[in-house]
Parts: sequence; structure tokens; C-alpha cells
Amino acid sequence: MSDSSKILDGRKVANEIKDEIATEVEQLKSRNGKVPHLAAILVGDDGASHTYVNNKIKACKRVGFEYTLLNFPGTISESKLMTEIDRINNDEDIDGLIVQLPLPDHISAAKVTEKILPEKDVDGFTNQNYGRITSKNPGLMPATPYGMVELLKRYKVEIKGAHCVMVGNSRTVGAPMSTIMAYHEFATVTVCHIHTKDLANHTKQADILIVAAGKPELITADMIKDGAVVVDVGITRIDADNEKGYELKGDVKFDEVSQKAKLITPVPGGVGPMTIASLLLNTLKAYKNRIAAI
Ligand code: NAD
Repeated sequence: MSDSSKILDGRKVANEIKDEIATEVEQLKSRNGKVPHLAAILVGDDGASHTYVNNKIKACKRVGFEYTLLNFPGTISESKLMTEIDRINNDEDIDGLIVQLPLPDHISAAKVTEKILPEKDVDGFTNQNYGRITSKNPGLMPATPYGMVELLKRYKVEIKGAHCVMVGNSRTVGAPMSTIMAYHEFATVTVCHIHTKDLANHTKQADILIVAAGKPELITADMIKDGAVVVDVGITRIDADNEKGYELKGDVKFDEVSQKAKLITPVPGGVGPMTIASLLLNTLKAYKNRIAAI
């Protein structure tokens, strides 16, 4: 087991952020008579997706946001889903919209994501928000990268000038995170992916190692240097002989890597809660932008 002083405790920091948001929501309510409102669309009955959406709704309740959950059957057509998104886009009472991924095969996640109004895209997935990452005045930032940067900052990790190695270059995590670390935080960034030759040779150079590969326990102790800061985005359900029938595994072999790391995120309780906190922060920002525009 690792020393708790080494833990980048996403759950704790997310709770601090939620307390801050709740206080602000009280003030906004008395000033504007209205609180931020998040809508979530869930399609089908995938267990993990239900859990993720329920956690987001729970977080809305906790901070005093209004919320709307729309749960459609997995058989809903793409055009009907697009119509529902349009309806929410045009609903002046709703500030933020998320569509929980993955979607059934007959629905294009790219098309659906792009349908969301960028001003309401609190996951930060639309092309406009993605493109604006490299603006001095970004739009709504991709939630998972935004949460990770916030976690590192709250633990006062020195990012400027650090060598950050990002394992994974997906559109939702690895690519925006590496951009934010280089462009906004001035780290020196190496991006690794499935075609990278000799992954360990790169990960061993990292002052800050961020892993989003979706490959349980890909990173072992021999792949990091002493004193590295390790952020594990990965979260995979593995069949297990317990009450739930599964356990969650990160991309980092926690027990051994935590012996060498200076700071490390646990799975669960690291990046996941920070993603939800970022969703709330983005919804608050969307609300403020809307009120300012009235
Ligand atoms: P993805 O499948 O879209 O991308 C995976 C990336 O990892 C790709 O760039 C791929 O090239 C790279 N990769 C895969 N195997 C590799 C290997 N052996 N060596 C080097 N690179 C490799 O996945 P994603 O959407 O980026 O998600 C990654 C993980 O993070 C998943 O486990 C996902 O569930 C998790 N995730 C967690 C949160 C959260 O809030 N906690 C949010 C998003 C994603």
C-alpha cells in the first residue's frame, strides 16, 4: 500500500471545488433568480454509462444546479436524437448539455457531438471548443484534461518547464491534454501512442507522466523514473468475483509504481471525480456567459 501523502486525491479536490461552486450558486441565485442548469442525454442501458451519468446528476444536486436527465432507448434513431439536441440547444433555460458516450453503433458520435451548441458543450468536445484550446481566450475546455490540470495545480506541481510524457493521443483526452500542457502550461511535451517505439524509453524521461491508453496496468515501476508525478486516466472494468461482478483498473500498476512516484492518482478517486468537477465548472461558466450576454 502506498503512503497517503503521495496521493493526488481527486475525490478530495473535487469536493473542495464543489463546495466553492455551491457557495457561488447561492449568490448567483439571489442575484439572478436562477441557477445553472445541466441536461444529460443517456441512450440505451449500458451499466457503466448509467453509473457515470448518475454521478454527474448527483454532483449537480450537491452544488445546487438544476438538472434534466433524458434517457432514450438504444433503438432511438439518429435523426430523433438530433431533434432532441436541437430542442435543448434552443431551450433558454438550459446552460449545458452532455451526451453520454458511447452511443449505439447506428448513431454517429461525431455527428451528435457536433450538433451540440458550442456554448452549451460542457464536455468541450465540439470542433469549435477543441479548436479554441489554442486561443488566448478558450471556450469550454475538454472536461477531463481541464480537471487534470486543475488537480496538478492544486497540489502545486511545477508544470512550467517540466517534461510531460502523455501516453495516448485520443481526441477527448491525450491530444487536448498534451496541447494544454504545452500551450497553456509551458511543459515540454512528448506524446506517445500505439505506434510509439519503445514506450518505456519515453515514459522513463517523464517528470509528469499522464496515461490515457485504456490498457490496464500498462505502466509498470520499471517504466518510470524516481520521483515522477503520475496521473492515471485509464479506467477499465475487469470481471471479478465480488458483489458487483467487476473491479476497476487503471492503466498504471498502482502498487509498484506508487513506490517510486512522488505523487500519483488512484483509480478510482483520481481523474474521474475531477472530470465531473470540470463539467460543473464548465456549466457554471456557460451560465455566466449566457447571463452576461442578456
Ligand atoms: P482511446 O481508446 O480513444 O485512446 C487510447 C489511446 O491510447 C490511443 O491514442 C492509443 O494510440 C493509445 N494506446 C493504446 N494502447 C497503447 C499502448 N500499448 N502503448 C501506447 N499507447 C497506447 O481512449 P480514451 O478515450 O483516450 O480513454 C483512455 C482511457 O481513459 C480509458 O480507460 C477511458 O475509460 C479512460 N477515461 C477516463 C476518464 C475519466 O474521467 N476518468 C475520461 C475519459 C477517458
